[in-house]
Amino acid sequence: MEHQLHIYNTLTRKKERFIPIHEPNVGMYVCGPTVYGDPHLGHARPAITFDILFRYLKYLGYKVRYVRNVTDVGHLENDEDEGEDKIAKKARLDQLEPMEVAQHYYNSYRKAMEMLNVLPPSIEPHASGHIMEQIEFTQKILDAGYAYESNGSVYFDVEKYNSDHHYGKLSGRDIDEMMETTRALDGQSEKRRSTDFALWKKAAPEHIMRWKSPWSEGFPGWHIECSAMGTKYLGEEFDIHGGGMDLIFPHHECEIAQSKAALGKESVKYWMHNNMITINGQKMGKSLGNFITLGEFFTGGHALLTKAFGPMTIRFFILQAHYRSTVDFSSEALEASEKGLERLMEAYARLQNLKASEKSSIEIGNLREKCKEAMNDDLNTPIVISHLFESLRIINLVYDGKETISQEDLDELQSVFKLFIEDILGLQPVGTASEGIEAYRKAVDLLLNIRLEAKKNKDWATSDKIRNELTALGFQVKDTKDGFEWSL
Ligand code: ZN
Repeated sequence: MEHQLHIYNTLTRKKERFIPIHEPNVGMYVCGPTVYGDPHLGHARPAITFDILFRYLKYLGYKVRYVRNVTDVGHLENDEDEGEDKIAKKARLDQLEPMEVAQHYYNSYRKAMEMLNVLPPSIEPHASGHIMEQIEFTQKILDAGYAYESNGSVYFDVEKYNSDHHYGKLSGRDIDEMMETTRALDGQSEKRRSTDFALWKKAAPEHIMRWKSPWSEGFPGWHIECSAMGTKYLGEEFDIHGGGMDLIFPHHECEIAQSKAALGKESVKYWMHNNMITINGQKMGKSLGNFITLGEFFTGGHALLTKAFGPMTIRFFILQAHYRSTVDFSSEALEASEKGLERLMEAYARLQNLKASEKSSIEIGNLREKCKEAMNDDLNTPIVISHLFESLRIINLVYDGKETISQEDLDELQSVFKLFIEDILGLQPVGTASEGIEAYRKAVDLLLNIRLEAKKNKDWATSDKIRNELTALGFQVKDTKDGFEWSL
């Protein structure tokens, strides 16, 4: 392996040469969706960021096992380990079985990811299917002396851990300061300190999602599922752990502490985090009225959007920024991205049909190497995109007959464009994705509207011709009071 890929490690705060623990195998774990709401932009960015890494590692020749979990045991309403389980609350309000709620949102998530052309991970373990592993992991932490049981719940002892190890090394938070500013809890709470976090929670009588454990009937804490499932599928030490920056603290900080406490070592070699998304310069939030779901982007069904934006536009827009920079969504910015993507894809389509000449009258440059260099520099997709754009000039000049290109150069250009546009950036040519399906629907509607007009004008020949030919193609056309209905 060449080892030219460098990635930014949040833990060491610098770009590091990527060298896997067990070459050519790479173990990669990314915190996946919590399935108690419609998929939104906050889901799209980490999924796309780590999809790029997954695709690029495979291109480099690594054998990647990519694990992305599904959090379906419910989260509590607030960070203090109190309140109602979010899935259970939804289930109660909608009168559904909690797993019905989780399955419904998981299905929407999978569908949205497919539309964004995010490759499915190798394993998608559900937290609810790994309760035993979480109980065992919690027991190991108890046995090591870094957790305590209190009234049927189990808490991680942050103070004890920090006296032996360093709690806060990933986030850079000063735990001593945190402990000083948060008062020691009085006897009212089960926890000794407010910084302690739950590994297992005893369920209140009204709590629906519950499992048996040595301590109580209850449910696992949030952080323990990733430690338990990461270790189960990738081993006690693995290469990459990723997620959004908002997960650095407390989630990932807690994962590091849990592994060190239970296994005596840290599990992860490289921690990677994508930056956050804002909408019109503001943080996205339900209370701010700027919470836009992916479905709303695809249909244009939100007051802040001027029109619908296809999944490829969303993907391209996200890739136009480096994953460690913030991305600000606005209708104007998306419209500009849409135009850029159209230009790129139009040239890419032209490239397929260019005719080669005896020799090239123009230099194609070392596009492949330049794009690889950008990817090797911590996945710099905006630079890859700018290199591709610089090459559009060559394609268009040859297309217009102003320059010529040799067969060898043409083959190279076609191969590099396919590699970076389709295989690595995962951009699908318009016409194969949902944009294509939309265009096809509109085309059938158009034909049937022409037929409607023909009927109004008593032009039976045209009307029958359209109907018969659509029928011959397998369409079923039904006349209705207001017009028509059709299906295939
Ligand atoms: Zn996680």
